[in-house]
Amino acid sequence: VERVFSGVQPTGNLHLGNYLGAIVNFVKLQETHNCLYCVVDMHALTQPVSVWGGPTELARNTREVTAAFIASGIDPKKHIVFNQSQVSGHAELAWIFNCVARIGWLNRMTQFKEKAGKDRENASVGLYDYPVLMAADILLYRATHVPVGEDQKQHLELARDIAQKFNNDFVDSIRGHGFSDGLFFPQPEPLITGPATRVMSLRDGTKKMSKSDSSDNSRINLTDDADTIAQKIRKAKTDPEPLPSEEKGLEPRPEADNLVGIYAALSGRSKSDVLHEFGGGQFSSFKNALVELCVTKLSPIASEMKRLVADPGHVDSILIDGADRARAIAHETMQATKDIVGFIRKS
Ligand code: ATP
Ligand code: MG
Repeated sequence: VERVFSGVQPTGNLHLGNYLGAIVNFVKLQETHNCLYCVVDMHALTQPVSVWGGPTELARNTREVTAAFIASGIDPKKHIVFNQSQVSGHAELAWIFNCVARIGWLNRMTQFKEKAGKDRENASVGLYDYPVLMAADILLYRATHVPVGEDQKQHLELARDIAQKFNNDFVDSIRGHGFSDGLFFPQPEPLITGPATRVMSLRDGTKKMSKSDSSDNSRINLTDDADTIAQKIRKAKTDPEPLPSEEKGLEPRPEADNLVGIYAALSGRSKSDVLHEFGGGQFSSFKNALVELCVTKLSPIASEMKRLVADPGHVDSILIDGADRARAIAHETMQATKDIVGFIRKS
């Protein structure tokens, strides 16, 4: 059975984009793959403390992401749910990969440019190195499939380049250690599928919905109550035209396209089907229907999350048990990797 790995940062404000672009697919893949779902707390530190909120918030958000996984239908007994910092192999392998990856490769990463903004000199070294740690996250388990949103495509390409360069750089050693094909790390494949691979901000149809967007009105959080959801959708940016009745009418209208896309994803219908129902009508009545749909789909998840985080000891025990099982897999990869590189170790 093929192995799946994916992660979500505990930076607070889990939103509809995380849910539709990532978590929904995590749930589905459980039927066909062995899955590791990781709360990537080490990645959270790459952003300014004002974004991830400091130690108390980090722990709280780590439990909240774990609760969201479980409330959405991830089974932590059949699969592995854990937080990254409990398995030291992530950092160890990232160091080796730092020495495989090239500066030129990292300089092309658009997420760094977006997150660092104009004040690039003041961004953390970790933010720059983020994609290398992400490659280590995946390859530490020699995972072959990585469900992510569309924004992570470039990082997956980098992970593939790192795997390939490692295999090339150490090809003789890899063969010498019993991998006759010279391939130690697999080429991880992104799975960018499902109902909505890129949900956009409610305030700006050209920007993706993000946890770290400073405007809370830009996103629907999984924990928002019905009134908040209603307010955010009613305030969501739109243009003055009524909805078109065909999909191609959405092309020059990113905000309208996004809302129709969210409706389609949450209802399991196609966009053209949704437009067939709402096209030509007023935006306000479509928005009312969208509010109702969001509340219906999200409120059971929110209340289950609330129930779970009320017992932090239980959530922590899930993460500790998951980390024990993740560590066993990681340990095998690290031992082989160290042998391949030529690091002396206790056998
Ligand atoms: P941040 O702004 O802190 O990077 P984020 O919202 O991008 O937060 P991440 O934890 O970085 O969230 O990403 C978790 C998963 O959610 C990834 O697979 C990512 O591709 C996916 N994802 C994030 N935003 C969206 C979105 N707007 N639409 C679809 N998928 C998304
Ligand atoms: Mg992100």
